[in-house]
Amino acid sequence: MTGQCGRCFVIRLSRFDMAISEFDIIERFFRRAGHSRDDVVLGIGDDAALLRVPADRELAIAVDTLVAGRHFPTATDPFDIGYKALAVNLSDLAAMGAEPAWATLSLTVPEADPSWLQAFADGFFSVADRYAVQLVGGDTTRGPLSVTVQVHGLVQRGRALRRDGAQPGQRLYVTGTLGDAACALQQLQSGVAADPFLLQRLNRPEPRVAFGRTLSDIASAAIDVSDGLLADLGHILKASGCGATLWVDRLPRSKQLDAQLAENVLVCQLGGGDDYELCFSIDADRVARLPPLVHDSGVPVTEVGLIEAEPGVRCRHDDGSGYQPHERGFDHFA
Ligand code: ADP
Ligand code: MG
Repeated sequence: MTGQCGRCFVIRLSRFDMAISEFDIIERFFRRAGHSRDDVVLGIGDDAALLRVPADRELAIAVDTLVAGRHFPTATDPFDIGYKALAVNLSDLAAMGAEPAWATLSLTVPEADPSWLQAFADGFFSVADRYAVQLVGGDTTRGPLSVTVQVHGLVQRGRALRRDGAQPGQRLYVTGTLGDAACALQQLQSGVAADPFLLQRLNRPEPRVAFGRTLSDIASAAIDVSDGLLADLGHILKASGCGATLWVDRLPRSKQLDAQLAENVLVCQLGGGDDYELCFSIDADRVARLPPLVHDSGVPVTEVGLIEAEPGVRCRHDDGSGYQPHERGFDHFA
């Protein structure tokens, strides 16, 4: 049984009702010693955090909310929720070519369950520590489970990778593989046991942070694929005022996705979200600089299309025939 009194969360531990205050939660799970960056003047504990931005940098800010039942199944492991809430935000910074620095966390939970909070925090900090991100503030409230993370990154002045830089003649690329997360979600929703690799791709996305930063030297436009390739590529094209041809047979796929029904593979790759790969365009006279970058980073990159003046996306098979994306597939993920 749970209840709320003012700023206290009441939890039942065995036969005792015990109140954990909002501040206990912050102290116990989110304020951590020994994880401080030099550029944090003041972190958790005051009315606002104070952060130092170098004069030659711009501040890149992104925020994403994950709502239980909408962005993840309610029964998702709390470690994965904490992990993903930060990882998807770092993916936005990666797509800007920014270096992650700080984060804030606004957490709404239905009850103060210590084991849930511990696992959530462990997942969150596993990503924060890996990318040297310091949690500098947030908010903690009671209500339907929802997690909002805001991240702050740094990018050299004028060097951010934006969506509006694509131009006709540029080559179009994606990192990694596409469609894995969407396929895992389909499996979960249809009640079949999800393939472990695909499930890992859904729950523990790897933001392409280091690759995005080096990409800012050679790419013209970039976006992270969170809503599906067609939708996200569409954002680049709209912002840039152009169109593209997309070679659907060349979209990179994992062998686990390849084992699915052929028709469904393209539905997942074009319409499914949650891949958190990068989609970017490069000027023809700069593409020679891509292979060394791929070699050094170890991040697989595939050329998947061409930016053109004519608006819209033309999906083509390798034999030249057109491919019409499935309306129903897109509704399913909308
Ligand atoms: P205020 O009343 O000024 O909004 P709060 O009582 O909400 O402050 O929070 C107290 C301090 O704890 C603030 O520094 C806030 O940024 C931080 N904080 C609150 N919730 C979290 C959280 N979930 N994670 C990290 N920091 C938090
Ligand atoms: Mg507050």
